[in-house]
Amino acid sequence: MPLDKIKQLIQDSENILVVSHIDSDGDSLGSAIALQLALSAIGKQVFVPAPTRFPQRYSFLHRYTNGWGNVPQKPDIIIAVDCSSEERIDWGDFLSTNGIPLINIDHHDGNHNFGDVNWLDPNAAAAGEMIYELLREIPAPIDENAASALYVAIMTDTGRFSFGNTTSKTLAIAAALVEIGADPKYLTTETYFNFSEEYFRNIGIALFNSRSYNNGRILFLTLDRATTQNFLTSPKDSEGIIDFAMAVRNVDVAVLFKEMSRNNIRISMRSRRGIDIDNVAKYFGGGGHPNAAGCSIEGTLATAQEGVLKQIRKLMGIL
Ligand code: AMP
Ligand code: MN
Ligand code: MN
Repeated sequence: MPLDKIKQLIQDSENILVVSHIDSDGDSLGSAIALQLALSAIGKQVFVPAPTRFPQRYSFLHRYTNGWGNVPQKPDIIIAVDCSSEERIDWGDFLSTNGIPLINIDHHDGNHNFGDVNWLDPNAAAAGEMIYELLREIPAPIDENAASALYVAIMTDTGRFSFGNTTSKTLAIAAALVEIGADPKYLTTETYFNFSEEYFRNIGIALFNSRSYNNGRILFLTLDRATTQNFLTSPKDSEGIIDFAMAVRNVDVAVLFKEMSRNNIRISMRSRRGIDIDNVAKYFGGGGHPNAAGCSIEGTLATAQEGVLKQIRKLMGIL
């Protein structure tokens, strides 16, 4: 049982490094913060490197942490959460992984099994669900701050408890977190109803730049550099915009193209159940879940759109 092994490794360790993935999201940040808080409470030295990119919408999570960085040269173990592959790990300022046991806790389907111990549960809606179970199992106390961080992890990966990954277990864990002190109204407002003006303008740009194909079954949204620069925004601040596209009637697949530079296009994809869009992400060297996946394409916006459209049509068996 990987869970027993992980429990043992944690118990035997003094210094623990917790890492998560690049392009931080609510699940990666919330899970790492909760691990840090709860394992610190049982006397461990827990270090989380400062995330390379910390989206503005999650900046309120700072207040729950014990601080970032100050990673020791040689931790006893490394725990990676919410990382589908080793390449996705955000190591921050920590460099030497040599010989340190690596624990891989993740819920992505097709995880690369890169750890020395791998605990993988594709049925978990969020890595945060797994962290909740682990902390209960150890046991390590989940205080109000850790509960809030885990609530954000689960809330964001389930689209506020609305995606197909939401189970009765998800809701039971969320209820337990609220019981501890996580405040749904506060955490929801901070995460979703606290737009920067830049994000607000990006919504407009992406929706205005939308194009549909195959009688509206496929919908593309685009944040191109020319328009974003014109409106003094950047394509980076765009998490969640893709959800607007999935709310359009008849849409089976939605894609958001972000022109990061002239030759680098970042792509977010969503699909309805039964259409495994991660196949398209994998085709372009990315990954994710059956109904939510992403990748990057080196090339122009037009090339990326053409290539992605072709692969989606192939996947859906339409022309
Ligand atoms: P996003 O569209 O950025 O919200 O990502 C949706 C899902 O796809 C998340 O589970 C990500 O971890 C995954 N994902 C996004 N981009 C990549 C990538 N370049 N490589 C692997 N997985 C990715
Ligand atoms: Mn994530
Ligand atoms: Mn996740």
